[in-house]
Amino acid sequence: MVDLGAYDESRPLDMHDLQFDLAAEKLGLEPWIAEKIKRPRRELTVRFPLRFDDGRIQLMEGHRVQHNTLRGPGKGGIRYHPRVDLDEVRALAGWMTWKCAVVDIPFGGAKGGVACDPTTMSAAERERLTRRYIWEISPLIGPEQDIPAPDVNTGPETMGWIVDTYSVFKGYTCNSVVTGKPLCIGGSLGRLKATSRGCIYVLEEAARHLGLELAGCRAVVQGFGNVGYHAAELLHEAGVKVVGLSNVQGALYNPAGIAPRAAKQHELSTGDLPSYAEAERLTNQELLELPCEVLIPAALEGQITRANAGRIKARIIVEGANGPTSPPADDILKDKGIFVVPDILANAGGVTVSYFEWVQNLQKLFWTEDDVNRRLREILTRAFAEVMAIAQRERTTMRTAAYMLAIERVAEAKRVRGIFP
Ligand code: GLU
Repeated sequence: MVDLGAYDESRPLDMHDLQFDLAAEKLGLEPWIAEKIKRPRRELTVRFPLRFDDGRIQLMEGHRVQHNTLRGPGKGGIRYHPRVDLDEVRALAGWMTWKCAVVDIPFGGAKGGVACDPTTMSAAERERLTRRYIWEISPLIGPEQDIPAPDVNTGPETMGWIVDTYSVFKGYTCNSVVTGKPLCIGGSLGRLKATSRGCIYVLEEAARHLGLELAGCRAVVQGFGNVGYHAAELLHEAGVKVVGLSNVQGALYNPAGIAPRAAKQHELSTGDLPSYAEAERLTNQELLELPCEVLIPAALEGQITRANAGRIKARIIVEGANGPTSPPADDILKDKGIFVVPDILANAGGVTVSYFEWVQNLQKLFWTEDDVNRRLREILTRAFAEVMAIAQRERTTMRTAAYMLAIERVAEAKRVRGIFP
């Protein structure tokens, strides 16, 4: 049995391993398969000097981890954040493997990251960082090998530099090497909002399951980046009252509702979200404990822990972020009857539309946004139903059920592929 008592909640890799163990134990996997698919296939750490605009030169460290490639090329974003280290990238890469398997798209899992604070860097510095990092990890990446994408603090702009850098070395334009690109170089319609849209689709399924009418519900969204902002905006459009939101600087609360677009405009024009006048100022921790029906953590890992899970009041949690809830917190939420749609299902909309983007690039044939959204809903609705069926059959949480589904798919791929040589 897995012991949660002494478990350290501050380490994403421990969280990944424990979530894996809880499900693998129920599946009764062959021990060698469990061991093989829990750990990364390969890892690359790179170090390189970066010249800042003021002439200063600093040694940077980055990583690319291919957790698994049994079901297809490695797939997963690139993160720029001061907290990035090899263990975090390992956890994030593992979560990508399970995410792609839950929604049954033909990818494995990978992740990359560079330890840096891009919010203090100029565009030119970020571009030099990106080009050099991509050059350093170029032995691993490629359209059939490992396909990066945006993650925390990276976006279409970064993906454009990646296409260019990779293409220069190849000698021809190769846009299928990354997803989440700008539209004019082969990006997909619907990709920018895909993670958030996916959160809304699974939220609708969860609400239907609980018999909850979403219109008029109160929602709290933690994080105001690509995922959090668009989730808030889509909720607002759907008639859900967004009573709380936040960025790294702090949180906002207004029981009468906050218009996400106006708050975004304020953040962009002043650089200071918490000074938005139409709401009360709170801390990020207070935000998570607000009275609401829907909570979407869309920031970083380790936000809901044994320290605050008991005070969470939401009925449904939809994990827009990767790894926001620790295993001990999961147990507390389960006892409180809070319905959690786990990250590997809830935020899989992003990588699902990344898959669509890659398919469109390979076919050189592009789809309408309606087509993208319709296919996305189809995939997520099916995955939600499959996970729910396992959760009910096994009398377990949606998280463990999602892991069971994903792990079994990856394990089966290993069984039928066998061992080389
Ligand atoms: N970074 C996103 C995630 O964690 C998207 C990855 C992708 O599209 O490959 O799922």
